[in-house]
Amino acid sequence: MFSLYVDTAGWREHTMQVLASVPGLVPVAKGNGYGFGLSTLATESDRLGCDTLAVGQLNEVDALKNFSGDVLVLMPWQPELNGQLLDNERRIATVASNEALSALTGSRHRVVVELLTSMMRFGLDLKQLRQARSHIASLRVEGYALHLPIDHSERGAVEETSNWIGVLETLDIPVPSLWVSHLSATDLHILKQRHPEVKLRPRVGTRLWLGKPDAYVARGTVLASHRVRRGQRFGYRQRAAPSAGTVVIVSGGTSHGVSLTAPSPVTSTAARAKAVALGGLAATGRSLSPVRIAGKRRWFAEPPHMQVSMIWLPAAVSPPAVGDELDVDVRMTTTTFDRLVMD
Ligand SMILES: *Cc1c(COP(=O)(O)O)cnc(C)c1O
Repeated sequence: MFSLYVDTAGWREHTMQVLASVPGLVPVAKGNGYGFGLSTLATESDRLGCDTLAVGQLNEVDALKNFSGDVLVLMPWQPELNGQLLDNERRIATVASNEALSALTGSRHRVVVELLTSMMRFGLDLKQLRQARSHIASLRVEGYALHLPIDHSERGAVEETSNWIGVLETLDIPVPSLWVSHLSATDLHILKQRHPEVKLRPRVGTRLWLGKPDAYVARGTVLASHRVRRGQRFGYRQRAAPSAGTVVIVSGGTSHGVSLTAPSPVTSTAARAKAVALGGLAATGRSLSPVRIAGKRRWFAEPPHMQVSMIWLPAAVSPPAVGDELDVDVRMTTTTFDRLVMD
């Protein structure tokens, strides 16, 4: 079993703190549910008393039966890609193109209109917004949305948000609410002071669910271990043991996302040096596993298999017993667990 253990009380205390510090917060549950799974996040969002939950895409709405409020779909609905939008009074669709707006004109669908930011992902630009004005008047617009970059210049996100608010005012477009992402507490505070009439709805995922890393831990179970002599061959690759030691078989493999890390932006020199070092080690056929034994991350004996990993342990370290659970360093947004244990 590859398990996620959650200190439920600690985790909930953290989510309640975030909720209290971010007025209007909309929790985000998408993809693998930040490691916890979509239905768990739906349950937690309900417990928190949130009125709206944001999901990544349309097919995730079904996973949220445990949530009683409205569900905002972040991925813009596009008629040419997603087909007809079925009626659902609890769902709010995001629209980010004039094709989508005109396809929904006169319908009863609830929509949030996304505006293009320096993110350059989805959204209407100024020209398209001007063209969209006639459609907007005959739609159930719940608000406007901005998806902002994380690495913004100082207060850049505030200025970008303010600019769009100014544009909407100038065009005389009513703004029932403004859905934003990745704004700091200070940013939100400044915006609130500048635009007290605008109801901000900050969408928060990572900080809410993963902001207290000591409240959860991934663990793999020791399934077997084998003493090997120096030179003895093992594994799919039949590599020879570099010395006497133990091959430890631990649950957690590629199907769980173990050691499949999402590319991360390598910007600092130290981080770059580390990446080169890791690449270099990988090139020599050895790579550091995320599995901890006796307080240290250990080497993979060979690349992880589908559901288990083979870990190399030098003879000097006494091997764990079958059934022991080992802490595994994982990236939560790319990991799926066999079970969730909420302690
Ligand atoms: C994923 C997502 C968020 C939340 O991002 P986090 O970094 O996990 O808080 C907010 N807005 C949009 C549009 C997203 O896709």
